[in-house]
Amino acid sequence: MLDYTQLDIMPLVRDIIELIGDNPEREGLKDTPKRVAQMYAEIFSGYYEKCPNLKTFKSDNNEMIVKSDITTFSVCEHHILPMKLKVAFAYIPDGKVVGISKIIRLIKWCSARLTIQENLTVMIVDEFMKQVQPKGCMCVIKGHHYCEEMRGVKTENLTQTSAIRGVFEKPEVRSEALSLIKNGEE
Ligand SMILES: [Zn+2]
Repeated sequence: MLDYTQLDIMPLVRDIIELIGDNPEREGLKDTPKRVAQMYAEIFSGYYEKCPNLKTFKSDNNEMIVKSDITTFSVCEHHILPMKLKVAFAYIPDGKVVGISKIIRLIKWCSARLTIQENLTVMIVDEFMKQVQPKGCMCVIKGHHYCEEMRGVKTENLTQTSAIRGVFEKPEVRSEALSLIKNGEE
């Protein structure tokens, strides 16, 4: 965790508390700037941690590999409010495979910043293509955006985004992936 982040952010959080009309010195809020600063270091770690290295293993398996139901959290860049996301990822290897845990780490790293769901989806497939060079890959995300659910239209709704690269451009590959993703969902 980064100490210098806390030192710089704490007085700014205190200012926000004061400016929205509360008393930053009262008991319940006294340590809030510190807690927020520590939390930011964690949820925005994508800015200072290096992208996970997707170590690959040689493999003759050139069948589609699918992982559904990966939960991650990101932060909406328009409102600095959380997004709760269910991510599904599929790829077809080209002579090398990568561990599922590495894919999850990549998704978490991409999420640990201010973004919008559309850009996060694209970032995941582009980083995977760059590092692993598969025949293709696909990412589908379903997200709850608290900036929509708490404010504005105030309805609970799910935003869906997807991004495809390589052989997933073919409709039959894409529909196979989508049915495998659906099967893998709880
Ligand atoms: Zn938003």
